[in-house]
Amino acid sequence: MLDIEGVAVSPDHFIGGRRVTSSDTFEDRCPMDWSLLLGRVARGTAETAALAVEAATSAFPAWAALGPVKRAGYLHRLADLIDANIERLALVECMDMAMLHESLKLRVIARGALNFRNYADLASIHEERVWSSRGTANRVIRMAAGPAVIITPWNAPFMLSTWKCAPALAAGNTVILKPAEWSPLSASLLADLVAEAGIPDGVFNVVQGYGSEVGAALVSHPGVKRISFTGSVPTARTIGHAAAENIIPFTAELGGKGPLIVFADADIEAAAKKAAGQYDDSGQVCMAGTRLLVERSIAADFLERFHRHTDAHVMGDSRHPATTMSALIHPRHLQTVAGFVDRARAAGDHVVRGGRIHREGGLWYEATLIEPRGNDSEVVQNEVFGPVLTFQTFADEAEAVALANSTAYGLAGIIYTGDADRADRVGRAVRAGTVWVNSFLIRDLTAPFGGIGISGIGREGGDYALDFHSDLKTLQILEGSVR
Ligand code: ADP
Repeated sequence: MLDIEGVAVSPDHFIGGRRVTSSDTFEDRCPMDWSLLLGRVARGTAETAALAVEAATSAFPAWAALGPVKRAGYLHRLADLIDANIERLALVECMDMAMLHESLKLRVIARGALNFRNYADLASIHEERVWSSRGTANRVIRMAAGPAVIITPWNAPFMLSTWKCAPALAAGNTVILKPAEWSPLSASLLADLVAEAGIPDGVFNVVQGYGSEVGAALVSHPGVKRISFTGSVPTARTIGHAAAENIIPFTAELGGKGPLIVFADADIEAAAKKAAGQYDDSGQVCMAGTRLLVERSIAADFLERFHRHTDAHVMGDSRHPATTMSALIHPRHLQTVAGFVDRARAAGDHVVRGGRIHREGGLWYEATLIEPRGNDSEVVQNEVFGPVLTFQTFADEAEAVALANSTAYGLAGIIYTGDADRADRVGRAVRAGTVWVNSFLIRDLTAPFGGIGISGIGREGGDYALDFHSDLKTLQILEGSVR
């Protein structure tokens, strides 16, 4: 057992209701103090993957046959246990990936519980579509599909795991969760709670290890019926090939390069505050509005307010309530972020603020704003996934929309305007899976969520995720032919 600030966390896999270990391990370190080794975690292999698929396959028929209402009972118990363990989960997640403890404790972990509650209820009240057509009685039936592999990234690991596992389990699929190797611990705690909730052995499994090893073995296993992935574009391509090989459905959410558009008719103070808020969690947020697009006539006013709000950010230990900017997850990621800024500088982009590692030896990078020399600058076109925003101005609505839609991504966008017609017009014109107007991150769990372009394929959320995890069948009976 690992001891994470007094919380016991198993470093092993959870397969078929039991802890299973591997002969090899990998290191898990704390981003807030890289010299702190949190522990060594089991490094799964192809055999681990096979064992997990076998467990999920044998548990599947009984779990599917239970039906949505009985499954909901288990999932509500699990949600209650998550709520009862918020403190422990928040602390472990904070130590493991440096997400702000305060927001974990107040919002994020509870949202994980809500994911299970929401899907438990949604699956239970599903109305089958029934209609009469050309002399036949028709109905659409959802059938559980089988074992689902869920691959999560290192940012927001608990939230994303629950967001992806809840619909799979509610739909009657069994799950093999492979968390990212940079933040593997909260998945292990989730496995403990699944066991405590009495969810039958093999319904939910966790395997630990590297994506290129156990991850690759899982996604190419012929026994797997669904793959739900969140991560990077190159990995999605690799997993997509594996899904194609076995002809199975696959969803991918792959990050973004969201615009944050501010019109002159907006509440400029609110917009500037929200723009500075994109540095929260040091920008390790896929939905973030990282390209600030501001109407030229208010640019100076906006920037002055933006700098004031950005100056108020506090970099530090994520356990401390005053901290707003966390450490980046890993020294390699710090180098990636710094590399973007160094290349931008060398190419002639203007670094307006920040652009430096905060303190030698630490993993904090300063809140950085870059005025690119052109829209084709790398830092405008590619996702940095760190505290790096770009600033561009526009003359009119048409230019704002053209800039907003000028990258290959399309996950999310943010618009600030006081005009209802413009909110609707620009909201429709921005090419993204989710567009917020005068707000950010408020999301209804039944709404579809996903990306356009290289931000991904498929939609999660509400019935969209339940349909993804089901095989839909049309049952047609000739009317009058049966009594
Ligand atoms: P990031 O840039 O967020 O680290 P990755 O796409 O590398 O994105 O990782 C996201 C998740 O995908 C992690 O859990 C990682 O272990 C997993 N992963 C990486 N490569 C593969 C692969 N070839 N097959 C399956 N999973 C993989």
